[in-house]
Amino acid sequence: MGALERKIEILGDASKFDVCASMASPRTVSSENRIGNPDKIGICHAFAPDGRCISLFKVLMTNHCIYDCKYCVNNSNNAKNKVMFEPVELARAFMGLYIRNYVEGLFLSSGVWRSATDTAEKMIEALDLIRNKYHFRGYIHVKILPGTSKSHIKQIMKIADRVSLNVELPSSCRLSEVSSMKNFNTDIIRCQKFIYHYIKEGLLPAGQTTQFIVGTTGESDHEIVERLHWEYQNLDLRRGYFSAFTPIKGTPLESKKIPEIYHRKRENFLYRVDWLYRRYNYEIKNIYSIMDEKGMIPLNIDPKVSLALKDDIFPIDVNEASFDELLRVPGIGEVSSKRIINLRRVNKKIENYKDLQRLGVVLKRAKSFITVNGQRQTSLKEFYR
Ligand code: SF4
Repeated sequence: MGALERKIEILGDASKFDVCASMASPRTVSSENRIGNPDKIGICHAFAPDGRCISLFKVLMTNHCIYDCKYCVNNSNNAKNKVMFEPVELARAFMGLYIRNYVEGLFLSSGVWRSATDTAEKMIEALDLIRNKYHFRGYIHVKILPGTSKSHIKQIMKIADRVSLNVELPSSCRLSEVSSMKNFNTDIIRCQKFIYHYIKEGLLPAGQTTQFIVGTTGESDHEIVERLHWEYQNLDLRRGYFSAFTPIKGTPLESKKIPEIYHRKRENFLYRVDWLYRRYNYEIKNIYSIMDEKGMIPLNIDPKVSLALKDDIFPIDVNEASFDELLRVPGIGEVSSKRIINLRRVNKKIENYKDLQRLGVVLKRAKSFITVNGQRQTSLKEFYR
């Protein structure tokens, strides 16, 4: 294996902890040489602004890092296999993959080598080559590094289609549990405010996103949702991603034991409440209301069902409910709500459960919250999974 291939392998693999818009499935790999081995990281999938699913070369500029985040394989105390692309190497490697049709875009992140400024300059040099020497006009997503200066953020935003900065932990207090060096306010929030400032100036209409690692410290769901809400309100955040903490060999947290199933489910439920908040217009107080006394979302009941059980609008008549009311019914999503409303526009009524099924409603979940022609069916055990 040549030196460049080795860098691609190491830096592609080290990038797998950054959540992209859509990750590969976590299939178990039975053989090293099988086709479609998702363990060989380096390519991920994301949705472009026009909705197309595209493949991205997902890679780090370097896995050197001056910070000491205990959960991260790149942390300063881990001296193993440290490498860095020269800007021209990265540009050529990416263009080689693009020209061969292996990838359609780039997802570039990095550890912080020497300083955020030095690393950002290397990244900008590589991006500049890709855009201006090789004339690549496709999708580029760049992770802004903690502590990056305002002027470097601006330069990156002029080149990239999307930028994001990982918050990782919900507060200064939680961050200090895993890093003695990173400063929550100056390294993270301040940089997100710079991004917000340039978005408002029209630099990147696609907006910014962020990522939380779930379960690294003792943080509650309430703390995560509260931070997320703050970011939506104050930084015009497009959306948050959640990544369940995974103990990584070679890090101080490698022996931290967390049941995988619990973590994945927690990650999944955070995605669900985020969706309910962003797309179904639930107020933040509604989301908090379903959490237990420890500020956790119960994992034995779907959050939408929890919300519906507290909502006094139910049962609703499917032939009279508004679009927003229909959205709140478990088992009815945006598509089926639209179909129900469209039916009314042509003066048709829903006569029975079969009509609802034809419109895509998951009847088992919905029927306790609705009436159809005055009929309702309730069975509490169906709420719990
Ligand atoms: S700053 Fe990022 S790359 Fe560096 S140790 Fe922390 S999480 Fe890892």
